[in-house]
Amino acid sequence: MPISIQIKVNMNNKLIAMIVSSTQYKEKDALVRMISEEGKAITMIAKGAYAPTSKYGAYLQPFNVCAIECHIKEPLSTFMSASILKTFSFTDIHQLAAASFIVQSMDNINQMEPQSFDCWKGVEYLNLIQHSMMAALLKFCFNCFEMDGRQLMVDECVDCGSLHVSGFSLSAGGFVCKSCSQHEKVDLHDIEVLKTLRCISKAPLELTYRCPSHVLSMGMIQLFVHDLKDSIPLAMKSWKFMDDLV
Ligand SMILES: [Zn+2]
Repeated sequence: MPISIQIKVNMNNKLIAMIVSSTQYKEKDALVRMISEEGKAITMIAKGAYAPTSKYGAYLQPFNVCAIECHIKEPLSTFMSASILKTFSFTDIHQLAAASFIVQSMDNINQMEPQSFDCWKGVEYLNLIQHSMMAALLKFCFNCFEMDGRQLMVDECVDCGSLHVSGFSLSAGGFVCKSCSQHEKVDLHDIEVLKTLRCISKAPLELTYRCPSHVLSMGMIQLFVHDLKDSIPLAMKSWKFMDDLV
C-alpha cells in the first residue's frame, strides 16, 4: 500500500561520505567515523561489520567514498548498507601516512567547525597526494592558515610591499624583501622554493598538481605544522607517525 511504502522510505537516510576510520566495537561491530558530502563529522555503528562473512567490512575502510544507507541519530547513527563510489590505494607508506594525517585532521576540524571540509575536498587532497605528497601537505597547511585567519602573503614583501622578495618568514606572515629580512626571522631563502610556495598557495586545489614540487622538503612542512598545531586541531598522532618515517 502506498502509505506503508512512504513510511519505509522515510525511515532510512542516504548519504555520501568518506570513511575516516573504522574501529572494532564489541565482538563483531564497527564504529565508523566519516566525513559527509556536507562536511559533517558522523559516527556510525555498523553491526556485524567485523564478522568474517560481512560484505561491508571491506567497504568501511579509510579513504573509501561510499553511498551509505543508514538511520541518522545523534550521537550515533546506524549503518545499514553501502556501495563504493571511489577507493584509493597507496602503495607507499609515506603517502598512506600523509593521507591519514590529512583526513583525520579534516575530521577533527569538522568537529570543531562543521562544514570546513566535505568528502569531495578529501578526494581532491588524496588525488594530490598520489601526485605529490609534499604538495598536498603544503596545500593543506595553507588551507589551515586561511581557516585560522592568517592568509600568508606570497605576492610581495609582507612588511613594505616590495616585489623584490628574497625570503619567506613565517613569523612575519609571508615573503620578505632583502632589507626587511634584516629584522625578521627568515625561514626559507631559496628562490625556487619561494616560487613553489607561491604556486601552491595560489593554485585551486584541483590544479595544484601542476605546481613543481621537487624543491619541497619535509622540513618546510614541519615548520608549518608545528606553527599550526596550537590553533588548529591537527591529527598530531598521525603526524608523528609520518614524521618518524621520514
Ligand atoms: Zn620589505
